[in-house]
Amino acid sequence: MSDILPDEAAVWRRAEDNARAIFGQYGYQEIRTPILEETGLFKRSIGEETDIVQKQMYSFKDRGERDVSLRPEGTAPVVRAYLEHSLGNVLPVQRLYYIGPMFRNERPQAGRLRQFHQIGAEAIGSPSPYLDAEIISLMMGILAACGLGDVELKLNTLGCAKDKKAFEQALKKALAPLAGKVGSLCEDCAKRYEKNILRLFDCKNDGCRKALVAAPRITDYLCGSCSGQFDRIKELLDAAGIKYTLTPSLVRGLDYYTGVVFEASHKNLGSQDAVAAGGRYDNLIEGLGGSSTPACGFAIGTDRVLLAAKGTEIKKAGLDLFFIGLGDEAQKKAFSILSALRTKGVACQMGLDEKSLKSQMRLADRVGAKKVLILGDEELKKGVALLRDMETKTQKEIRLEDVTDTHLW
Ligand code: ATP
Ligand code: MG
Repeated sequence: MSDILPDEAAVWRRAEDNARAIFGQYGYQEIRTPILEETGLFKRSIGEETDIVQKQMYSFKDRGERDVSLRPEGTAPVVRAYLEHSLGNVLPVQRLYYIGPMFRNERPQAGRLRQFHQIGAEAIGSPSPYLDAEIISLMMGILAACGLGDVELKLNTLGCAKDKKAFEQALKKALAPLAGKVGSLCEDCAKRYEKNILRLFDCKNDGCRKALVAAPRITDYLCGSCSGQFDRIKELLDAAGIKYTLTPSLVRGLDYYTGVVFEASHKNLGSQDAVAAGGRYDNLIEGLGGSSTPACGFAIGTDRVLLAAKGTEIKKAGLDLFFIGLGDEAQKKAFSILSALRTKGVACQMGLDEKSLKSQMRLADRVGAKKVLILGDEELKKGVALLRDMETKTQKEIRLEDVTDTHLW
């Protein structure tokens, strides 16, 4: 467990602020659940045979002899709260996010802590592939806003519970000769073979990896509806310009996943290179006593994100427009336009001093503005302003009376 000292805390705050701004853009609301939960909640949701429950939880009896654990992840607590407070009755799809510490008693190493931190989201209430694509796009947006624009997104599907089962059985059969031979699978995998066979894909041991090269692939066991759903998600990601690598060996260590699963990794990190992960979990809510409710979500490991982003400045996110008025008149005009824009919900700021255009452009870049509006004497006379897109680096003239019509941007 590590201390976050003042210099670093400022970076953390910036990353978390940016994440909150993006959650706001997507219409996700914050939920804060307790750090401590009943141990049974995690056993029922994550799964008895998983590494987390078997080896990693900080579990103890409290003074009332109740079995409790420090939360090792955020999904189970959010789902518990969703059910306890009948949040499904409030909105048909609940879009929730959380930011906070998680605890796992693992072997410490670079990028692996016992108290670590996650920024996560859960979208509960719909099986729509649009929701899967939304969740992935949200995760990638937050990673980018935390300084990681260049992560690799790995994508796979585990199919529905039925497909997953058929695949597990095929895998079991295919690997049976090896499992019977002492020493061909590592000790952990010999156990996984019996109890949680998909986890074999997580093993970094050379022998086990070799054993899996010719093993069956989930893609051959998908039902029509699951493969259609997966195709649709890929199409939507393509449409949004989100790149991904299809990775049939990607499985998740928690039992509750079904359907699409994904993981983002970064090249700056060593062997612990996953910075975020998630997927669909359509059976978890029913499994915890609710009615059948489809859902999906992700968790970003903030510690690893900041480790990977070290050295890159994390720009403030969430400003739609930075207004540069050159001269007194232009400044006044800028001020009144900004007031009108803010009542429309546009996040904007203006340059405050008479510094050069160049230095104000630099400032606009540093505050992460998506657009910059430039108004000088010439433009003022003509009743126009220059609207610059900071991403595409293109600009166009826009009439001053049209500036508050953001669809004309
Ligand atoms: P890993 O394969 O690295 O153990 P995981 O599958 O256990 O990851 P998840 O439960 O999916 O991890 O958690 C999501 C993210 O949280 C991970 O991608 C990682 O960035 C981060 N994370 C998980 N465990 C730790 C830890 N002990 N220390 C720091 N970050 C962690
Ligand atoms: Mg782990």
